[in-house]
Amino acid sequence: MALPTAKLLQEFALIQGLKHQFAHRAPGLVHGIGDDAAVVEANSPRWWHLTTDLLAEGIHFDLKSAAPESIGYRAAMANLSDLAAMGAVPRYLLVSLAIPKKVSQSQVYGLYRGMMKACRLYDVALIGGDTSASKAGLFLSITLVGTTAKRRALFRHGAKVGDQIYVSGTLGDSLAGLRLLANSKTLRSTKKKRSQLSRSHRQFLIDRHVHPTARVTEGLWLNNGRLATAAIDLSDGLSGDLRHLCEESGVGAEIESDNIPLSPACHAYAKAYHVSSTQLAITGGEDYELLFTVSPKSRRALERQAQARGYRITRIGTIRPQKFGIQMTSHGRMQPLPLTSYEHFC
Ligand code: ADP
Ligand code: MG
Repeated sequence: MALPTAKLLQEFALIQGLKHQFAHRAPGLVHGIGDDAAVVEANSPRWWHLTTDLLAEGIHFDLKSAAPESIGYRAAMANLSDLAAMGAVPRYLLVSLAIPKKVSQSQVYGLYRGMMKACRLYDVALIGGDTSASKAGLFLSITLVGTTAKRRALFRHGAKVGDQIYVSGTLGDSLAGLRLLANSKTLRSTKKKRSQLSRSHRQFLIDRHVHPTARVTEGLWLNNGRLATAAIDLSDGLSGDLRHLCEESGVGAEIESDNIPLSPACHAYAKAYHVSSTQLAITGGEDYELLFTVSPKSRRALERQAQARGYRITRIGTIRPQKFGIQMTSHGRMQPLPLTSYEHFC
């Protein structure tokens, strides 16, 4: 609690309302919202994974251009994606808010509706948080708690020379979607370019940006099946995130650009807007796909199981010694993978 006294009742009512509408029972949850701390019980030895994100209005989201529901949904998905990359089962959610005067109760409920829409997909329970007033915009902090079996998690540091590099899904869609959204807001957007991109491709790309899906199921499969040696989620883009994985593992990497999986919509976008689809895939953030490495002896099992389960995974390169650096081969030519960092919306 951190509101002035006059606001206490309002805060109490808000928390009661949120509890009533969004909190529910969950396995292992002894006591959720309503006391000084939430209490959970571990029935068997586990590893607990804790991840938190702080989102600031004007930096990570804009209340003027995005619906609160969509802000909440994407914020929760970003955290779910972190747990997916650890191979963890997401379980509990804590949400802290600093609310400025201009933000209405219905906007706050919108945020929660969005967060819980994402969390319900994985049975994640809201178990607590904190509420404050704010004199400088809306702040939203999300903490997610997940579990794995003991000594069983996907780290960034496990990649070995000779491992094969894979990604789930397709890359670059979210950035293309974000650009389409931004274009549609500028009056100067040219009708010609619009018409070259079919409605369904447009909608697909925008949806990939607004409604990303964290690869929780795939992360659990990779971890529990002992299929991956290392993993990271693609939140900042392939170029930046591959670098993180390589740094933590003390290795280099060779990416085969022709193998990077692209959706038909992303191809169509690149053609219509005269941009390189590979560039979109390398620099585009917020796809929330998984980037993971697999030892040569696990490849066959991985690909067989992926096919049987209907998971889309694509081999895009090979882990090399650290001194090799991070290179990309394209049409037989090798060049350093450009270092670009994705700038989050705003
Ligand atoms: P304290 O004074 O101990 O911080 P609060 O009055 O802030 O207690 O919180 C009371 C209960 O409501 C706690 O269980 C807390 O986790 C929960 N809570 C407070 N704010 C939020 C929020 N924004 N979202 C979800 N739960 C909340
Ligand atoms: Mg509090």
